Amino acid sequence: MEKQNKHDPKAWLRTRQVGIERTNPAARGQPQPQKPAMSPSGKRCWVCTQPITWGQSDTACNERCRAILYAESYRIARHKEESYRQNRPCNLKLSEWAETLRHYNWHCAFCQIGPFESLDHFIPTSRGGATWVGNVVPSCLPCQAAKGNLLPEEVKAIPRERMDRIARYLGRRAQMVSQS
Ligand SMILES: [Zn+2]
Ligand SMILES: [Zn+2]
Repeated sequence: MEKQNKHDPKAWLRTRQVGIERTNPAARGQPQPQKPAMSPSGKRCWVCTQPITWGQSDTACNERCRAILYAESYRIARHKEESYRQNRPCNLKLSEWAETLRHYNWHCAFCQIGPFESLDHFIPTSRGGATWVGNVVPSCLPCQAAKGNLLPEEVKAIPRERMDRIARYLGRRAQMVSQS
């Protein structure tokens, strides 16, 4: 009979290996259980809307989406600083901005073709527009340049129907915020 010796490193290793085989199905050559299709919380990625099963994140499904969200939170922080300097209100939340970006499929709200490159104030800040959910849409740089510092009703370079549709969307978002 083998003498029990807790100071024998080989004996210690044998007990460890038994432990691993017991707890890890892969070590026994059995298929591992499938990952659940939905995270237990039912949370979805703020960027791509995939169910989140990744790490401890509540907002991003993978590193790529996390990096995108981080860049957007930095963008909002820059607008906050700018607003503070100019003594204008800025209460845009990352969750609100991400919802607007998803609504426009991360594309320009004005042409719907160009990629989202900039946060556009529908009513320009120079004309009294604030950085809040009822006044911000994603824009490509050419559309933002075409819009310039004009009020929505003064813009000629973008079809009126498009401008009206954006105005209605922002109106709905503004209403949801005032009701909550
Ligand atoms: Zn994602
Ligand atoms: Zn555009």
